[in-house]
Amino acid sequence: MAKINTHYQKLQAGYLFPEIGKRVRAYAAAHPATRIIRLGIGDVVLPLPAPIVDAIKTAADEMARKETFRGYGPEQGYEFLLDAIAANYRSQGAQVSPDEIFVSDGAKCDTANMQEIFSLDSVVAVTDPVYPVYVDTNVMAGRTGPADSDGRYQRLVYLPTTAANDFDPPLPDGRADLVYLCSPNNPTGAVMSRASLARWVAWAKQHEAIILFDAAYEAFVREPGLPRSIFEIPGAREVALEFRSFSKTAGFTGTRCAFTVIPKELKARDDSGAWVALHGLWNRRHTTKFNGVSYPIQRAAAAVFSPEGAAGAHANIDYTMENARLIREGLARAGYRVFGGVNAPYIWMQVPASMTSWQYFDRLLAEANVVGTPGSGFGSCGEGYFRLSAFGFRENVEEAVERIRTKLPA
Ligand SMILES: *Cc1c(COP(=O)(O)O)cnc(C)c1O
Repeated sequence: MAKINTHYQKLQAGYLFPEIGKRVRAYAAAHPATRIIRLGIGDVVLPLPAPIVDAIKTAADEMARKETFRGYGPEQGYEFLLDAIAANYRSQGAQVSPDEIFVSDGAKCDTANMQEIFSLDSVVAVTDPVYPVYVDTNVMAGRTGPADSDGRYQRLVYLPTTAANDFDPPLPDGRADLVYLCSPNNPTGAVMSRASLARWVAWAKQHEAIILFDAAYEAFVREPGLPRSIFEIPGAREVALEFRSFSKTAGFTGTRCAFTVIPKELKARDDSGAWVALHGLWNRRHTTKFNGVSYPIQRAAAAVFSPEGAAGAHANIDYTMENARLIREGLARAGYRVFGGVNAPYIWMQVPASMTSWQYFDRLLAEANVVGTPGSGFGSCGEGYFRLSAFGFRENVEEAVERIRTKLPA
């Protein structure tokens, strides 16, 4: 008799984006003449820069000739891409060697799969609010108990990040073995300072814990002096691994390419108490379950680091961050308390005290015809907040801000 993995039955329904979609469709059906502006989902809208598309085309032509055709490549990624990534880290003040990099088809998969190489009895800590992938994949694996009425899972450690602590994740009170940190943060738009990351690295070292650092938005860091990689912090190579992605930084959400860095020094204990390097475990996992990103897409990813490709990618980020500024300043003028949007493409706003995040969602949809994301969808500490994404076309962003200012000021 086949039986299911019953841990899946603990999962709270994949509620957030389907529920948003349902409410928007219902409103649109009832108001067919209304033009709804969507600043909800975090997806890029600008086309890929031409030098990056040219790299795909050139590589596709290589695949058409027997002299240059390629079959399976190295599961970890082609050397030309690993070298380009390592050079980029050096330019950011972090030491990463090419053979510590594992190229993949997404940071979502990597953040989801990394938990496999850790013991099932690991205690996992996440921030609240949080990118839901970290939580759900540990629920699926069986590292948590059931969820309570707030949607919080037993055995998970939640670290509240709110305006009260400047969205800076507090260290856990008790035991935690694995900690997911995301900076710049989705959804709050906050960036962890060098001092904050150094505090986490010291904590992890003291407790023999591992930091799983999601740097998917590193390219959006604008203010000088803020870290883009946890490996800029002395000692981090012994306690942290890092996820990065070309999705938001270079518009690859539909193209698919990302990578994870596992330093050779990074170790955890086995059942006998001996130290084991995580690099070897992840290499075994990656080469067993994954057969590499397609050659043309790895060429496209490498082109992101060429002078022309980088200029194109940076121009797109500049465009998005100008949107972020317009949203941030426009909402502030409308009386809202706003966070983020300076070093991240997300604006995290406080909803008026009389409303829940979902009530605000409904009012914003009905009165301004603008779609955002209720903060409570990212965790119970997200209640009272609302996320607007700066990924969008300028004219839509400008109109959305104007509508909020005139139709639904704070
Ligand atoms: C978008 C995003 C990613 C990137 O996911 P991909 O699978 O590489 O597209 C990773 N982490 C966070 C927090 C994100 O928002």
